[in-house]
Amino acid sequence: MSKLTFPRMGESWRAFKMLLEDLGNDVVVPPRPSKRTLDLGVRYSPEFACLPLKILMGTYLEAIEMGADTIVTTGGVGPCRAGEYALLHHKMLKDLGHDIKMVVFEPPRIYPFNFIKNVWTLNKNHTSVRGIIAHIKRGWRKVQALDNTEKLSHIIRPRELSRGTTTKVYQQVLEWIDCAYTTKQIIDAESAALEALRSLPQHNGQDVLRVGIVGEIYVLLEPASNLEMEETLGNLGVEVERSMFLTGWTRDNTWKDTTERKTVTEAAAPYLPELVGGHGRDTIGNTILYAKRGFDGIIQIAPFTCIPEIVSRTILPRVSRDYDIPVLTFFLDEQTGKAGMSTRLEAFTDLMRRKKRSKLGQGSLIV
Ligand code: SF4
Repeated sequence: MSKLTFPRMGESWRAFKMLLEDLGNDVVVPPRPSKRTLDLGVRYSPEFACLPLKILMGTYLEAIEMGADTIVTTGGVGPCRAGEYALLHHKMLKDLGHDIKMVVFEPPRIYPFNFIKNVWTLNKNHTSVRGIIAHIKRGWRKVQALDNTEKLSHIIRPRELSRGTTTKVYQQVLEWIDCAYTTKQIIDAESAALEALRSLPQHNGQDVLRVGIVGEIYVLLEPASNLEMEETLGNLGVEVERSMFLTGWTRDNTWKDTTERKTVTEAAAPYLPELVGGHGRDTIGNTILYAKRGFDGIIQIAPFTCIPEIVSRTILPRVSRDYDIPVLTFFLDEQTGKAGMSTRLEAFTDLMRRKKRSKLGQGSLIV
């Protein structure tokens, strides 16, 4: 039987694994990206390629070493390189002598038949349509449980009394959700996970800063690619709210634009009325919405050479000035180190704290 793997993005692999196994597939869980993953990706990818392409190349090579022979991934539309990833990876792997099969899911709202055909290809158990829908619903519920738990960890971490307890408990409760199989088990595991996080000893949170995280989808969703920035911020006493989770992204791309999506697009319109590919326009729209909600700062994270985020980076100084909100940008590549990032995050946190205390600072605060 063929062995499937897929791109790793945060903790969502737990739901994908369950879904693919339910359909009768043998699954190779992609390993968490490490230095070796990145080294492999950098060695075999074009130098100019964006960071996600390199990390995924390394991930696929490691999964192939573990026996994978089929990659299930997404395509994409719009003016950016994401739509070419699957093709490029396939060609690069072939050039290295790996005879790999690719199953590429395009956005179902634009290519519904591609979705049906791919699901049929993956349906090794010949499950009925009703059965497939039930599997997808259960997988979706698991992704929701994982996202909700992660969101709460971002709120609890900056308030914890004992440094590191949130991360420790978060890792434990992920296993509870992972082991849950039926919908009832998933809901129960989610409730228990949220309760375990809420019951951690916390201070009153008076000093906690709130930061909105915006940017490109892969570096937002995979903590290894952004050097666990959200955890570092939490440990500095900063509550983060990430503008993108897999559940939100899937809702926006599966059927039609959600109200949330339209709100973001409308907010961005005076500064960036055009789609520039990737999530460049969302970066602007979400920055404005966070500013209106009274957040203390914005952090934009993006792969080095990511065109949509470079476009939004050039607009952010004006947004920062108009809405009086500090913005810090990180362009990530294989040279980015955790120590340097932590230093910049500490400086940014100091700046936001001073600004919050004085309630004075006017003008653009771009770091
Ligand atoms: S959004 Fe940016 S990083 Fe992602 S594929 Fe497009 S250019 Fe590359």
